[in-house]
Amino acid sequence: MSFQRAQEKLKILADAAKYDVSCSSSGSNRSNTTKGLGDATGMGICHSYTEDGRCVSLLKILLTNYCIFDCAYCVTRKSNDIKRAAFKVQEVVDLTINFYRRNYIEGLFLSSGIFKNADYTMERLVAVAKKLRLEENFNGYIHLKSIPGASDELMREAGLYADRLSVNIEIPTESGLKKLAPDKKREDFIKPMVKVKNEIIQYKAEKKIIKSTPKYAPAGQSTQMIIGASGENDFQIMQTSNHFYKNYNLKRVYYSGYVPISYDDRLPKIGSDVPMLRENRLYQTDWLMRFYGFDVSELLNEQHQHLDLDVDPKLGWALRNLHEFPVDINTADKRMLARIPGLGMKSVHKIINARRFRRLNWEHLKKIGVSLNRAQYFIICDSNQFEKRDLTSEKIKGLILQNSTSKYRKSLSNQLSLFG
Ligand code: SF4
Repeated sequence: MSFQRAQEKLKILADAAKYDVSCSSSGSNRSNTTKGLGDATGMGICHSYTEDGRCVSLLKILLTNYCIFDCAYCVTRKSNDIKRAAFKVQEVVDLTINFYRRNYIEGLFLSSGIFKNADYTMERLVAVAKKLRLEENFNGYIHLKSIPGASDELMREAGLYADRLSVNIEIPTESGLKKLAPDKKREDFIKPMVKVKNEIIQYKAEKKIIKSTPKYAPAGQSTQMIIGASGENDFQIMQTSNHFYKNYNLKRVYYSGYVPISYDDRLPKIGSDVPMLRENRLYQTDWLMRFYGFDVSELLNEQHQHLDLDVDPKLGWALRNLHEFPVDINTADKRMLARIPGLGMKSVHKIINARRFRRLNWEHLKKIGVSLNRAQYFIICDSNQFEKRDLTSEKIKGLILQNSTSKYRKSLSNQLSLFG
């Protein structure tokens, strides 16, 4: 493959891969100073987290952007008039090794459009991982995208060579999927997810008995949902997430604000805003469900179907449940401390540790690094100062927004004027 052709393919297939956020992505500034293959500037280098929490840079590309499907929200859909390209299996292997040797990357994130059919495509994705592991002795991180509808046998093989597998749900509800991706069926996503979940459980169990049992997808499986393409409310989105976390042992659900890319009556118009703030609020809600002991129904339900964009979901919940406050910092249990707006789990642990030695007042809290900007309205401690009780939720919200330094502040400015 000539250098120019390789660069052209890389440009097309790295650009097409950027819409997939199921590995936490950001750009790289590493540039080519030697005129060799592999200028990483803007060429699909992203970052992700391994099984042990290390941040690694990955070459993020599609095997091909040819696709037999026509999902309305996807830039790779067959009806879209774009430049197409496809890598051969060996080309991806060579590129990965080349970038790896130059220290540009520590691993590979490989996805693909579907050419011919699911198995034909999945077979090639697996072949890349297999060659890297067995022929190149590559021990870097590999994240493979599972192609919906791929056979059980290919999914079993994929997990033996990849660290992480993901299959994207894309659209949060079945009705939305039917509307925007009529070629796809929900079962086609579920089947590989079930297979991966069962294999992970089985391999882990076998490893306890036979130490030489290989690891199967040690970094687990993840999925991605597109937000704002198909009209679902936040309640529906988080119910779907909750269902997938509980039933398929997912490590992560990624939320990707829809970037308008096509003139299609079924979709938001080109030029409409990407719902970045909404995406951020969904991530915060996801975090509260997984690490702060919140049930999805506490944050979103039939009566409250949309997250408040002005405030983070924990603050939103607290403002709707003022009867649960103030919380006494010196006596509250861990579950309730974790529900105080503005307190992360780190602060919760610091408080629990510190109060073993003394009753805490405002000064102690500040000294151990607890941020009181939001928390002050919801707690009491061993002090009479700073009594912020008997304020209404509207008043508290106004006071907090006035002092907010959120990067989304611009979009909150209209709201702020209401509290002037
Ligand atoms: S199958 Fe995947 S790559 Fe093909 S159009 Fe649909 S979302 Fe895009």
